[in-house]
Amino acid sequence: MRAIRLYDTQQRQVRPFEPRDDGKVGIYACGPTVYSRVHVGNARPFVVFSQLKRFLEHEGYDVTLVANITDINDKIYTAAREAGRDSDGLAREMTAHYIDDTERLGLGRPDHEPLASEYVGPIVDLISALVDSDHAYAASGDVYFRVRTLPSYGELSRRDVDQMDQGEGIEGADLKEDPLDFALWKAQKPDEDTSWDSPWGPGRPGWHIECSAMAEELLGLEFDIHGGGIDLVFPHHENEAAQTLAGRGKPLARMWMHNGMLEASAGEKMAKSVGNIRRLTDVLDDVGGTVLVLYFSGGHYRQPLAFSPEGLEAAAAGARRIRDAARRLTPGASPEALAPHREAFFEALADDFNTPRALAALYEWVSEANKLPEGAGDADLREMLGVLGLEALLESEEAPAEAVALAEQREAARRDKDWGEADRLRDELRDMGWEVRDGPQGPELVKAS
Ligand SMILES: [Zn+2]
Repeated sequence: MRAIRLYDTQQRQVRPFEPRDDGKVGIYACGPTVYSRVHVGNARPFVVFSQLKRFLEHEGYDVTLVANITDINDKIYTAAREAGRDSDGLAREMTAHYIDDTERLGLGRPDHEPLASEYVGPIVDLISALVDSDHAYAASGDVYFRVRTLPSYGELSRRDVDQMDQGEGIEGADLKEDPLDFALWKAQKPDEDTSWDSPWGPGRPGWHIECSAMAEELLGLEFDIHGGGIDLVFPHHENEAAQTLAGRGKPLARMWMHNGMLEASAGEKMAKSVGNIRRLTDVLDDVGGTVLVLYFSGGHYRQPLAFSPEGLEAAAAGARRIRDAARRLTPGASPEALAPHREAFFEALADDFNTPRALAALYEWVSEANKLPEGAGDADLREMLGVLGLEALLESEEAPAEAVALAEQREAARRDKDWGEADRLRDELRDMGWEVRDGPQGPELVKAS
């Protein structure tokens, strides 16, 4: 096996990846809270950890990827109230949308996608262990974590305990022994339409404890990689780590891996409050899953990535370049002369999962293959694209006559400003596996992904 190095947020350094169990890897990546359609930034951790799983599998590991779905949360109650509907129904609908949207990335699904609502038993068990060991206390139906009982608290985010704000506002402030404490369980409020039974009365879990319990259930303690966006380091991951260490006496994860944020433009946060968020489904309608995955792969996972039309265009041009080269290849082993580029691709991934450097090696491979007489074997390219989840770039792009006819009808409907009919035809095409995109020479049909 190739030696793999990854940056560990806990130790603030790149270090050798050594799994807990020989040949096996457990990864837990924090997923979305399902209160609205996910935005394109939510796709970044999905892409990073799906590709990491593919790479580790390529290297011979048996990988289990867990990406949770937070379906019990304050944001869901608030959004449901604003929409005048039940929170359970809203969470179910948004979960289905999240699955559909991420499915279109063409990366397959994580091995487990646990819903918090299905793990309330293990969550209550972990809270009970914390209460029994005095790391937590009940107060008027709530339960709070007693932060100052854990001397190592703050090690992951490297913050001074006295500078910390749990972000819980005034909620429970009068019940907390210390403003630093955070909620593990919240008693049901009159305007909340769901609740679960517990030793402390009806209520629901806090966000952080959901992940600690689900990760332990599905991967055991001290699993290999805990991942998520860099914005989750504090308080979410700090608190996940604290709960498990205090309740079980063992660390939750051996390594913490965080992806940089997708920014609206360089240095500008993508945020609902700023109004510059783009929904994943809309971006996929524009460029398709393959181009979006290629776009994400062009940035190092730890760096922020500015979301721009130019960046997407560059990714689309890259996709065309790979498709053009692939057309000239034949099935089978690739020439020895191209092997160093293949090797550089996998070395780059082994070096803190450097996908931009890996892509550069892939494009080198393509350039060199283009110089060879027609008929070079495609095995290397297939292998590299497979690890990035971009194998669709090798598929033939010839659209059937029926699809072409539908696309022409759709163009006519658009010219007549009959948007309803145009949308209907677009959906019909998508059901056939084709998408219409605006290319430089007008609309073109590409394989849906
Ligand atoms: Zn989490």
